Amino acid sequence: MQKKLLVNFPDRQGSLEGNFNISDLCPHCNRPIDPIVKSAHSDSRYASDSIVKVAIVLLCPSSDCSQFFLDWFNVKIGQYESIKQTNRLEYVYKPILKNDLPTEVNEKFPEFNAIYSQSLQAESYGLDQIAGVGYRKSLEFLIKQYAIHLFPDEEDRVKKETLNNTIMNRLCAFPKLQTLAKAATWIGNDETHFVRKHEDKDITSMKKFIKSAATFISADLDADDALEFTQQN
Ligand SMILES: [Zn+2]
Repeated sequence: MQKKLLVNFPDRQGSLEGNFNISDLCPHCNRPIDPIVKSAHSDSRYASDSIVKVAIVLLCPSSDCSQFFLDWFNVKIGQYESIKQTNRLEYVYKPILKNDLPTEVNEKFPEFNAIYSQSLQAESYGLDQIAGVGYRKSLEFLIKQYAIHLFPDEEDRVKKETLNNTIMNRLCAFPKLQTLAKAATWIGNDETHFVRKHEDKDITSMKKFIKSAATFISADLDADDALEFTQQN
């Protein structure tokens, strides 16, 4: 909702007025609200024709919530002591984890990419139990999709067999990849089962093994490209 607010600067006596599109949903109780504006502050000293960050301190008016939160804006200052433009920025406290797996693998196996990225998001939000189950599912998609890439004529059989069988029977040419996939599966199974067998390993180890397996697969896909190129020329 649009509100006219006065912004304070660290080095300036008077405040500047600007239009701000402030939140109309409380991030604590998730109710639609008309928040109580407590104050608005710039992070930088006043200068005409500059861009500053402005934090607005808001209070939820619901009596059973009454919690403070912040809105955060990019603000353009005009030439004549005016605020020209305000843009609200996304304000999150938890950093969203980035998908840093090889692009070749993410592009070649989009379902794997989607599941892995959602698991990262869950982990970012502190949902480590859900994230663990997601990483286990992403591993299954990575290995099965790669096995189908290796054995396109046996797609149906690969889909139906257990993940362990796919690892043991389809990845025989790459014993180290087999080991990585097996280790990630063992930890992944701990994430989905009631009793944990490997107390000393967690999703950090599983992610490390998945990343190494993805890097291995990416190198193999690159080698296929290189082979095609050299054979053509
Ligand atoms: Zn609230």
